[in-house]
Parts: sequence; C-alpha cells; structure tokens
Amino acid sequence: MSSSRFAALFLACAHVFVFAAPPVAVAQQRVAIVRDAEIEALVTEYARPILKAAGLSRSGIDIVLVNNRSFNAFVAGRRIFIHTGTLMEAESPNEIIGIIAHEAGHIAGGHQERLRQQIARAQTMAIVAALVGLGAGVAGAASKSGDLAQAGVGIAAGGAEIARRGLLSYQRSEEATADRTAIDYLNKTGQSAKGMLTTFQRLAGGMALAGVNVDPYQVSHPLPRERIANLEEQARKSPYFDRKDPPELQLRHDMMRAKVAAYTEGAQAVPRLFRKDPNGIPARYGNAISTYLTGNPRDALKKADALISSMPRNPYLQELRGDVLIKLNRAEEAANAYAKAIALAPGTPGLLQVGYGQALLATGKPTLVKKAASELATGLSREPEFANGYRYLAQAYGQSGDIAAADLATAEGHFHSGQYRDAKIFAMRAQQKMKRGSPGWLRAQDIVQYKQPR
Ligand SMILES: [Zn+2]
Repeated sequence: MSSSRFAALFLACAHVFVFAAPPVAVAQQRVAIVRDAEIEALVTEYARPILKAAGLSRSGIDIVLVNNRSFNAFVAGRRIFIHTGTLMEAESPNEIIGIIAHEAGHIAGGHQERLRQQIARAQTMAIVAALVGLGAGVAGAASKSGDLAQAGVGIAAGGAEIARRGLLSYQRSEEATADRTAIDYLNKTGQSAKGMLTTFQRLAGGMALAGVNVDPYQVSHPLPRERIANLEEQARKSPYFDRKDPPELQLRHDMMRAKVAAYTEGAQAVPRLFRKDPNGIPARYGNAISTYLTGNPRDALKKADALISSMPRNPYLQELRGDVLIKLNRAEEAANAYAKAIALAPGTPGLLQVGYGQALLATGKPTLVKKAASELATGLSREPEFANGYRYLAQAYGQSGDIAAADLATAEGHFHSGQYRDAKIFAMRAQQKMKRGSPGWLRAQDIVQYKQPR
C-alpha cells in the first residue's frame, strides 16, 4: 500500500475520537486510548477545581480516556484513567466529578505507592508461607507420612489467604480514606457528593444482583455495604448535597455522552440513551455524528448545520462540520470550519489544530500545504504523544520538498508509537540531510541515542 493511499484512507476516517495508537501500558495490560478535543476539554474542566482543592494543580495530573464500555476509573502514576463506558453511564457531570474526586483522593494520599508496597509485602508473606509449607511437605514426603505432607499444603494455602485478607483490609481502609477526602474536595468546591454516592450505590447494587458478574471498578475499589452507608451519611451532611450541576454544563455532558454512544455503540445507542428527549440537542448531535460515521455525508452536513444554527459558538459542532466536509472532499471549506473551531475552543487545542492541518493538507494547494506543515507542527508540539498526527506532518513536509523534515516527522511518529527501531532508522536518515548541530539534527540525535527504560 502506498503511503499516500494510506493517508487518504486515514483522512476519510474521523480524526476526532481517534482510538489512538499507541496503546499505553498500564500494569502490563495495554489499553486503547481515545483522543477527542471535546471530551478532553469537558473532563479537564470537571477535574480542575477538584485537583486545585486537592493541592494537585501543579502536579501535572493527566486524565486519560480509555476505549472500554465497562464502568471503570483508576489511577496509575500521575494519570487518572476513565473508561468511555463510565462517561456514557454517568447521567450528570456531578457523577464524573465525584469519581475524579475519589481518584484524586487516592493520588493525594499516595495510596498507589503504598498499595504497591503492601502487595510486595503480601507476596513476601505468601512466599514465606509457601516455603514453610513446602518445607513441611518435603519433610512429610521424606518421612513418607501422607498426613504431614497434606499439612504442608494446608499451611501454604492458609498463608496466602492471610496475605490476601491483609491486603483486602488494607484496601478497604484506603477506599474509606479516599471517600472521605473526596467529600472534603467536593465541599471545598461547593459541589454535591450525591453523584459519587449514586455511582457507588449503582455499582454495589449491580454486584448484588449480578452475583458473579464483577465490574472491574469493584475489583480496584471494593464496595462493601458499610462503605456506602458511611459515604451516604457524610454526603448528606454537606450543605451542597442537593445542589445541581449548571444546566449548560449538563447540556455539554449530554452531548459528550451522545458522542461516546455514537462512536462506541453505534447509531442505535443514541436514541436509547435519550429516550426521554428524542428531539433535544444531545440526541440530534448523536444522530448527526452517527450519520457522519455510517450514513450519507450530505445528510450529516444538513444535520450539523441545523445544530450550528442553534449553537453557533460551539467549537465542536464546527469540528463535526469540518469532519463531514472532509468526507465530502471539500477540504478548503473543512479547513475553514476547523479554523472556526480553534477560534471558539478554550485554551490551545492541539488536537483541533492537527485536524486543521490535515484539512489544509488535503486541499493539495502548495501554499495551503505549507501552512498545513506549520499548523501540524504547532499542534503536535502541544500534543507530542499524538502519534497519528506525524504521518500528516511528514506528508506536508514531503509535499513542500523538505525531505529531511519529513524523515524526522516519520521518526517522531514511530518514536511516539513505541517503535524505536524504525524511529532510529528514520532519524539517522534525516540527519544525513541536516546540518550537524541544527535543532532538527539534535532532535534526531535524541531519538538515535534514546535508551528504552526497562
Ligand atoms: Zn478507590
């Protein structure tokens, strides 16, 4: 497959809501990450006051969205991972904010590090117990006494059980602490703990009903009855218990749910989710996205435009319009839509800028392709781990005749996908065409000399 055909194929897909490569390794499991400007902006907004209350504003905490329909949220390092299934199930912003508050409680309490130590300790206990058991077993076998040999097995299993119980009781106390801390953060920010309570009640109820069908969240955050009772008691004490999320935030939340439903569950999921309000903006938004993904792009454009006329300042409707126009091969108009989206979006939306660059590139006009290279480079400097973007950057440089920069961009793409061998090959190729010591040459040198942490 020629690289340009691949890129064209890629352009036909959504650049939003990319199930982005590379998957990130979390505790030896690889998870598929979702990148989307709208959802990231919203969840970041949910998290900001909580992280501030937790004293974590400057700790560089990232929220990462995982493409998984099950309900889960967890902490690894400085990252809070949230499953898309969690976002879709949460009926209000407050529910997600509660989850973030709880996870922030784990981070602020340094629980993860201590949990690791506890696991190490538990394993040591189990190993010691197993060794003692094994010793007894060997002795038993040597004396040819079946009873003693069996006693050895019993001791080993008992040791592991004690270790497991120790770990569970430790985990229970961490959960209670994280709950208390979360309520504290919610009170400090004038928000209700009702969403957190609702979420945990729902999860605990599901566990009781389903029996064996254990949700991953319950494995990472055990939910015994007493914990819910404690949580409820503390949550109700708050003067903010009955405070509702602002309506405009609720609307953005529902639009986000509609998007997740359309992308992850298909067209049928959207009306199911908004049965109570089938003609509301969130339902129509989900429908427009579904039409863009699987239906007629002309219909999708009409639907996007109708939504824009009721919400002209929503950046993500402009982004959707751009996506649809790309599909219709109207690249220059698409570029204009992305430019509008960037102007309307809060902060410096690197992902939208990459979309803008892609659209400029797709026009094939030499001046716009040059602009594409600079937009893509800026966008990627803000989102350096967005590995898919480097393909377009390489193409934009290539079409502008800067082959050295194209090779370096390809090297970066491989590098951020974790393909270090290919990254080094392209970095060396780029260096041959670059002035020794120039910024590009030095960056290529970093890649060539990179040593993978084990
Ligand atoms: Zn927890």
